[in-house]
Amino acid sequence: MFVLRSLLMMGRITWRVHHCPSRMWAWVKRRREWWSLMYRTLCYNDHNSCNSATDTMMEPMFWCVDHFAKYMGPIMVTMVVFLTTMVVAIFYVCLLPHIYYESMAATLFHLVFGHWLLLMIVFNYIMACFTSPGHPPDNLPEVVSICKKCISPKPPRTHHCSVCRQCVLKMDHHCPWLNNCVGFYNHRYFFMFCVYMWTGTIYVSSVGYTLFKQHFYGSKDIVFPGLVNPLNLAWDVWSSKKVTPEAVAPVTGVNMLTSSLDEFEPELKGQWIHNAIIFEFLLCTGVCVALGLLTIWHALMISKAETSIEVHINKKERKRLKKKGMIFKNPYDFGFIQNWKIFLGIEKGSSRSFWRHILFPSCHTPTGNGLTWRTATYQLNKEENGLRLL
Ligand SMILES: [Zn+2]
Ligand SMILES: [Zn+2]
Repeated sequence: MFVLRSLLMMGRITWRVHHCPSRMWAWVKRRREWWSLMYRTLCYNDHNSCNSATDTMMEPMFWCVDHFAKYMGPIMVTMVVFLTTMVVAIFYVCLLPHIYYESMAATLFHLVFGHWLLLMIVFNYIMACFTSPGHPPDNLPEVVSICKKCISPKPPRTHHCSVCRQCVLKMDHHCPWLNNCVGFYNHRYFFMFCVYMWTGTIYVSSVGYTLFKQHFYGSKDIVFPGLVNPLNLAWDVWSSKKVTPEAVAPVTGVNMLTSSLDEFEPELKGQWIHNAIIFEFLLCTGVCVALGLLTIWHALMISKAETSIEVHINKKERKRLKKKGMIFKNPYDFGFIQNWKIFLGIEKGSSRSFWRHILFPSCHTPTGNGLTWRTATYQLNKEENGLRLL
């Protein structure tokens, strides 16, 4: 009888240990469902999505931009003016004598081209900074929504700038480098400034490249510059040249200059000139890469007749309509060439030309008033299985 009871007890214990993992898992599952229900009861929102979660997470960053951008603006404008002045001064003092030594014809070309670039950069920058982007007036011919911040009606393509604290016509973005909003009336100046400044950095970098190599590497016959500099060792061995430490190692100090630059033209000696030439090239190449990416991105948007804000709005709309089996078309997109003509304000019948109004300073205003917008019409094309611009 005792043995039988012991066996029964063992059986019960074995059964409990055996079922332990599944009971534990069931308990975890119940708890998880309970916490999930709790969370959904408190936070569920039918309109929640990955985008709204990202927006919420970025809210502290937006807050910082809203509160500090207006203080950062004057500092960043001063930086642009100061650095551009330095690049121009170094060009006059260090690079121009070097060009003059080479040829008089080249000097004349660089004087004309360089000053034209400088004029266009300065003109477009001043105009972009001091031209108001345009704000909606009291009487609007067309209203599409109400601004939640200003509690006032908004015309099409108008958005509220939280830094300027007012609505801006065809707002693109608030630019701290201009300390101004980029909108309807100064969008062209902003883009032209980017283009000319980018061209300027490419120009200065290419003109100063030989001098930079002499001062940075100690030789102008460097085949692999920058991060691939160690390859010069292999190159020298391969081309059976005598490898000298000065030829491959980055050089600093006046000692190098007095020894290796004696053979070179003008009196480009001295620590500060050495530093200035290196600074000029590194600054211009750095700005060239960053500004180049920005300019290309803006050029792509202009080609599609979209602003930086509309890119996001249209992307969402495109996705939404695609789910319904519909095709989204930007109503302001008149095709690549026409979009550029409208943006530059040189469309047919405007008596403006590319040569006069884009390659030289021009204060012409964009077509229209920024309050009402002409929209493109499309026709269903069954052969192409899509829409065709009329
Ligand atoms: Zn507003
Ligand atoms: Zn603004």
